This record gives sequence, structure tokens and C-alpha cells, in this order.
Amino acid sequence: MVENPFTAFIDLVTYDAALRALQQKRLSLISEQNHIQSTLSLLERNTVLAKARSADLRKEVDKLERELHELDAQLSDKQHRLNLVNTPKEYMSLQQEIEILEQNKRNADDALLTLWSAFEQQQEFDQQREKSESIERAVAETKLRELQQILVDLEQEIEKKQRLRVEKEAKTPDAWREKYAMMLTRIENPVVSVENASCSACFYPISQQDLAALMRHKLLECKGCYRILYYL
Ligand SMILES: [Zn+2]
Repeated sequence: MVENPFTAFIDLVTYDAALRALQQKRLSLISEQNHIQSTLSLLERNTVLAKARSADLRKEVDKLERELHELDAQLSDKQHRLNLVNTPKEYMSLQQEIEILEQNKRNADDALLTLWSAFEQQQEFDQQREKSESIERAVAETKLRELQQILVDLEQEIEKKQRLRVEKEAKTPDAWREKYAMMLTRIENPVVSVENASCSACFYPISQQDLAALMRHKLLECKGCYRILYYL
């Protein structure tokens, strides 16, 4: 059966519109996929930063604790020496050193307390954050896997449609096909239907005379947007 050239051409145009819709869907899925991937990297970076912050605070706590131990050792050494001094001058001087050390120790104790409380708050905050982020991560990972599967299927469908397109294209008259191919390089829908006696792309009205010709399956150029018009 030899297909009517008009029907074959319109069939190709309609087919292309469906193919284009699939390609657009593919692009939007890819952009969704990229968005999820950047969310996941952001979560990953947050975790790394939080761990580093915690480790830094822990280091400060450890350092201050070492300083306190050192102060304790110095104090007990000086208090021990207090019993061994021979002169009141020596005693006074040692007593003064002890007072300074005690003041330093009180300061260090206060600082340690503040630091511990900051460290604990940080830990608690991190635990909460980690909990909510792990839910967020799991949701994102599931969504990403689903998207990847949909994309694989979609790409197969597009590939199959592109192979079938070659056959459809071969059935169309050379002159129309060439003009269509050329216009396709500039505009994505160069062939549009006439709806309600006007171009369905730019709504330019079609004259009665042109409508009559279109009804006889002639292809005309739209006077508004220069697309090829057809009437079904
Ligand atoms: Zn138009």
C-alpha cells in the first residue's frame, strides 16, 4: 500500500512532536537528577564540616585539661615546698606564687566548663542534624535510583523512536522533507495545524481561499510566522 504523501508527512510531524516531548522530559529528568545530586553533596559536606568542628572543640577541651593537670602538679609541688621553707620571706614569696597558680586554675576551670558545655551542645546539635539529614539522604537516594531507572527506560524509548523515524521520514516527499528538515534547524515546530481558521502557533487568521486549499491537503506557509500550515 502506498501511503498518501500528505498523511505520511503529517504523521512524521506528529511523531516528531511526541519525540520532542520525550526529549524534553529527558532534559527535565536530568536536571532533577542533578539537583538531587547536589543536595546529596551538600549533605555530605555538612557532615564533614560538622565532624571537623567537633574534632576542633575536642582538641581544645583536651588541651585545657592538660593545662589544668599541669597547674595541679605545680600547685601540689609548691604546697609541698611550703612545709620545707626556712625563712618568712621564702614563705611569703611561695604563698604568692600559690595564689597566682590558684587564680590561674580557677580561670582554667571556668574556661573548661564553658568549653565542655559548648562541646556537648555541639554534639547534641550534630546528632539531631545527622538524624534529620540521614532521613533526607535516604529519601534523596531512593528518588535518585528511581529517576535513573526512568531515564534508562526513557533513553531506550527515544532511541527506538529515532530508529523508527527514519522509516517514517523515507515515506515523505523529498521536497517537503527537505524544507521541513531545514526549518527544523531553526525552530522546533515548523509545521503546525490550522485550528479555528487560524495558525495554531501564532493565531494568524487564514483566508477562506487558503482554507479551501488547505482542505485539499495543500501545505501553505503561515503569513504570520512562516511555519508550514496543514489542515486535517
Ligand atoms: Zn503562524
